[in-house]
Amino acid sequence: MTDITESSFLHLDLPPAQLKNLQQLGYHHMTPIQEQALPIALGGHDLIAQAKTGSGKTAAFGLALLNRLQVSELSVQALVVCPTRELSNQVAEELRRLARFQANIKIVVVSGGVPMRPQVASLENGAHIVVGTPGRLNDHIDKGNLSLANINTLVLDEADRMLEMGFKEQMLELLKDAPHQRQTMLFSATFPDDIEYISRRFQKNPMQVTVEAHH
Ligand code: ADP
Ligand code: MG
Repeated sequence: MTDITESSFLHLDLPPAQLKNLQQLGYHHMTPIQEQALPIALGGHDLIAQAKTGSGKTAAFGLALLNRLQVSELSVQALVVCPTRELSNQVAEELRRLARFQANIKIVVVSGGVPMRPQVASLENGAHIVVGTPGRLNDHIDKGNLSLANINTLVLDEADRMLEMGFKEQMLELLKDAPHQRQTMLFSATFPDDIEYISRRFQKNPMQVTVEAHH
């Protein structure tokens, strides 16, 4: 007997292999942010989401971008922008877990504070998903190591923290560089004016979700 509760991933339009993977990861129920954001994200809509650290944001955007990835086409199709190297690594780790069931998905991290050269080598080998910090991402774009031409999903993770760290101009550069035809998902714990501005300027009819802290 199967009991499909409201918050089960089984309600989502995901491939059986992914549902099995989630079960194996012990993800039996969606977190509140996943419950609200995933139907929107999987539907391809722009999203602005208020959610804190530890709420399960990565799967909220990760399942959507993984679901539309063309693995046979080795080009960068999704860009996830994070405030720090540590957060970039955490997001990449979680994306790799979520991508476990699907072989050969290449996820490359390019964050600041570490040498450029190994990152250049990784990018040259090809990537489907690039995760990184704003300054370093722009460095690679400027040097011709990274192209956003095939991006269909752009995620700004912890956007308010990126603003606090002085990354506003760098974020705007990335948003301008990416193809117009794309899904933009913006996650932030707070909504200062600059976030409202970025959303108004760069998102198309974004759907907003808010999750109350419940820890
Ligand atoms: P955030 O980015 O919001 O800080 P993460 O996406 O890193 O949060 O997720 C936090 C932790 O919760 C991770 O260890 C992740 O593996 C786990 N997690 C995420 N979603 C679920 C779920 N639906 N069920 C169980 N664990 C989950
Ligand atoms: Mg995170």
